[in-house]
Amino acid sequence: MASISLKQIQKSFGEVEVVKGLDLEIPNGQFTVLVGPSGCGKTTTLRMIAGLETVDSGVIQIGDKDVTKLEPKDRDVAMVFQNYALYAHLSVADNIGFPLRSKGVKKEEISSRVAEVAASLGISELLKRKPKELSGGQQQRVAIGRAIIRNPQVFLFDEPLSNLDAKLRLEMRTEIIRLQRRLGTTAVYVTHDQEEAMTLSDVMVVMKDGVIKQLGKPDDIYKKPVDVFVAEFVGSPKMNLVKGHASAGNFTAQSGFQIKVDPKLSGEITLGIRPEDVKITNKDASSTQGKVEILEQLGPRAILTIQSGNQQITAVVDNENLKQITDKTNISINSHLEDHHYFETSTGKRLN
Ligand code: ATP
Repeated sequence: MASISLKQIQKSFGEVEVVKGLDLEIPNGQFTVLVGPSGCGKTTTLRMIAGLETVDSGVIQIGDKDVTKLEPKDRDVAMVFQNYALYAHLSVADNIGFPLRSKGVKKEEISSRVAEVAASLGISELLKRKPKELSGGQQQRVAIGRAIIRNPQVFLFDEPLSNLDAKLRLEMRTEIIRLQRRLGTTAVYVTHDQEEAMTLSDVMVVMKDGVIKQLGKPDDIYKKPVDVFVAEFVGSPKMNLVKGHASAGNFTAQSGFQIKVDPKLSGEITLGIRPEDVKITNKDASSTQGKVEILEQLGPRAILTIQSGNQQITAVVDNENLKQITDKTNISINSHLEDHHYFETSTGKRLN
């Protein structure tokens, strides 16, 4: 286990600067997830920590050691890739034991370590098979096994679950959480999936265009996104973001949509309301009016797409609160002021 420190890391490919002076401190044992849209520089950042990519400037430390110029093999990190990267001609046992064999560890010790790691991942019965005889989830377990067996200071995960189907992805996610809790190894995990980031991370790092937009506990970021980009990126369905004008506690959108807001606000603002914070009532003349256009049932909850004048609003409602509501029902929309997110429209920055 070790901490990781990135100081002013910069990287360009040709003319394009893809990581722009990144500072990041990851304490010992923390599970950090780098998340952001495609092309924001998260994989490049991970590969620079691994030593698979050089840095143009800046310093990378693992523990007390400056590893900026060290080869990957000298950094004591283990990386798990999206495409598993297993050796096709080797059995599962030999794939898992490979890092120990290349270090010259004795055969008997390798066998017992392989057996131990395979048992911890629930793949003991697969040890004799070749990778092509395994499902995607089993192959990813083998790849994780090969990383664990080295007992590295740091685990690096590059979208390890994206090739798996939805059900397996959920299972493996839980397994990775369990594994990291048990081993306590410092981990950096890259994904473009905000839900995966929310569930896995101790600390979530939201990136865009080569810079960190926000860093913190997933719940804190969810509750207080620093700008409209983070507000929209984190959470599903997406936060409703409506541009308009605030005055004397009333908000009027460019679309004509109106709702009560904090009376202290004035001028051009962007109002954010998470779908689960949109309150639906049967028609009530004093509230904002709307009509349910689409109602999507999701087991205990439903997603409503509501049209209010020219404004579309998404709401997530517990089934028990749906009562008489179906699509095409006229309804009223409310929200609690404490659930509102306010942003400056010109800069996108959070106001409250
Ligand atoms: P994704 O989720 O799509 O993998 P990402 O956030 O991980 O995205 P990176 O893979 O770090 O993004 O890539 C950042 C930018 O750098 C992208 O525009 C990409 O096209 C570019 N890039 C990455 N590797 C190279 C390379 N070896 N040569 C040139 N450009 C590269």
